[in-house]
Amino acid sequence: MSKDLKEKTLAELEQIVIGLGQKKYLAEYIFHFIHNEAATEIAQITPLNKAFRLQLTDQGYYISRLAGVSKLTGKDGTVKYALTLGARPNARIEAVLLLDNRRKTLCVSTQVGCALGCPFCATGRLGFRRDLTAAEIVDQVNIVARDASCVAPANSAIRNMHSAGRIRNVVYMGMGEPLLNYHAVVKSVAMLNHPKGKNIGIRHITISTCGIAPAIRKLASEDLHPKLAVSLNAPSDALRTQLMPINAKYPIAELLKAVRFYQDRTSQRVSFEYVMIKGLNDSAAHARMLVNLLRGLMCHVNLIEHNPYPGCEFAGSDSERIRQFASISERAGIETTVRFRMGRDIRAACGQLGADWLTVE
Ligand code: SF4
Repeated sequence: MSKDLKEKTLAELEQIVIGLGQKKYLAEYIFHFIHNEAATEIAQITPLNKAFRLQLTDQGYYISRLAGVSKLTGKDGTVKYALTLGARPNARIEAVLLLDNRRKTLCVSTQVGCALGCPFCATGRLGFRRDLTAAEIVDQVNIVARDASCVAPANSAIRNMHSAGRIRNVVYMGMGEPLLNYHAVVKSVAMLNHPKGKNIGIRHITISTCGIAPAIRKLASEDLHPKLAVSLNAPSDALRTQLMPINAKYPIAELLKAVRFYQDRTSQRVSFEYVMIKGLNDSAAHARMLVNLLRGLMCHVNLIEHNPYPGCEFAGSDSERIRQFASISERAGIETTVRFRMGRDIRAACGQLGADWLTVE
């Protein structure tokens, strides 16, 4: 069993504290200091008396932490953090802080690399290296929350946005497929949402999946229901399997059944992400097929111009194509947005995470 206190929910900390013969309420101090006071050593949890702090250390307990390696700020204020998980240089991930109308959203990673190999995505090209722990997922929020107020881009409008308040939204859209690291992801959601921790509202947490149908159904049975975003990207199985090989295992019909199940259980609107790739999935006919597929679902479509990375054979659709696609979808009554390409200049946009390492490793 892990001795990392950052890996524990409040209920688990309570069990540890009681097991060591201490008062249960002391667990709240540990949880609070780890998630809100940036404690990285047990000695920093000063409301605990010295004897108890020593007892925890003697029992082998510790507080893990990610280390920051680099930080890049884009022209639009997007900040990309590269973080290491340990001594090995290839155990690295990226987290991206986005600014939108003075709201701060953090995009977190859940795996080092990704096994699913979608050819339009740089992370897929890295291959799978390992799952993150719940502590490593949550720590991305801790580190960026601590750092965000210190970011000082040259542009004063962006500087003002950065200084405006805490991270309000967390999206699991970084490196990796969240639902293939199910337990760590669900646990991290509970920790981020907990009122004694970061207290991020469950409606402000989004899990984005490429469509692991059984895991979507399982998520519907959890106590907490984050928002669900599904990376769809094609309206037919043949094209989707070409763009997202996982579709061969969970074809569109099965995926949409699971999404309907999630929606029935949670009454939530679901988002569908659609990467617009020039000449491949962006025609009016594709838009009409998409509309037919999504009929009857309470949903929102997010169109994202494909973002390039070194060695990628695809190009993004023209703006005119994207506008036409969006208008077909909107005329069919589906709320549709075109996602602004935030962070593209620092390779922090959708599909670009890990791209810097493709050129150096
Ligand atoms: S799009 Fe998502 S599932 Fe596909 S390779 Fe990239 S990270 Fe993995």
